[in-house]
Amino acid sequence: MNIPDTVEIREVGPRDGFQNEPETIPTERKIELIDMLVRTGLRRLEVTSFVRPDVIPQLADAAEVLAGINVPGEVSVSVLIPNERGLERALELRDRIARTRPAFDEINVFLSASETHNRKNVNRSIAESLAGLEVVLGRAREAGLRCEAVISTSFGCPYEGRVPPARVLEIAKRLCDVGAQEIGFGDTTGMANPVQVGELFAMLRSELDELGCMQLTAHFHNTRGQGLANVLAALQAGVTSFESSFGELGGCPVPPGATGNIATEDFVSMLHEMGITTGIDLDALLACARRAQEVLGRPLGSHTLVAGPVDWHGER
Ligand code: ZN
Repeated sequence: MNIPDTVEIREVGPRDGFQNEPETIPTERKIELIDMLVRTGLRRLEVTSFVRPDVIPQLADAAEVLAGINVPGEVSVSVLIPNERGLERALELRDRIARTRPAFDEINVFLSASETHNRKNVNRSIAESLAGLEVVLGRAREAGLRCEAVISTSFGCPYEGRVPPARVLEIAKRLCDVGAQEIGFGDTTGMANPVQVGELFAMLRSELDELGCMQLTAHFHNTRGQGLANVLAALQAGVTSFESSFGELGGCPVPPGATGNIATEDFVSMLHEMGITTGIDLDALLACARRAQEVLGRPLGSHTLVAGPVDWHGER
């Protein structure tokens, strides 16, 4: 089967996951969980956001989390930036708490491929979002930050239905033009199927690879149980960069019921069983998800957490 040998994973649970919990997780517990995740071998983590604290109170402690976590230099820390004001706050903080390493290395910005979802999520048209992102990405690049832009609802919109692949491509090209070095394609409400994923990434790779300015990343949700099937289709289309969330935490604020990113531990288990390396210790990752269950006081949705890793009785 034509699949890559190695896959890069950005763990997004501390941002995508914690923001979607009804209760705010205490800052010390967030720091504890992020430090545990770093020790699993994960090399990329999105840890918090600079969305206005009155909009997302669950992540109002971004400064305390960034100041408190213990991350070695080889691990890349990313923060979500909603707009120019958010970037200003993030940069002020980065200058204030720079120690042996910067508080964060990468930013993640976002918009939706569908007008209705973009309006409901950020109250702007796609054109307005793109104009704003041009400013944010320009300033972030000047400040030496690596920039990822996520296109939400790349595979389907709960309000508009099918999203034309040509529109996704056009937005990705614009983002590339204005400084994005990585584009994440989000199946924000879990509408994608594997055939569609294979076709979209094959098209995007053939159209975008020649631009040479970006990494293509897949961000799947397991809302309807198709997350890992979509992963396999993306792998076969040559995608080697993914985002996932330990414990299957996360989702999207709009619409209600748009639950769950693919669980990092299920994803890693599948990759390792297929002979793909990730650099991640699955047992250590499962310990993180178990700890998150204790902190949240409820069972989490990941399968490997329930079943444990595959046991071949030494017969590998
Ligand atoms: Zn997500």
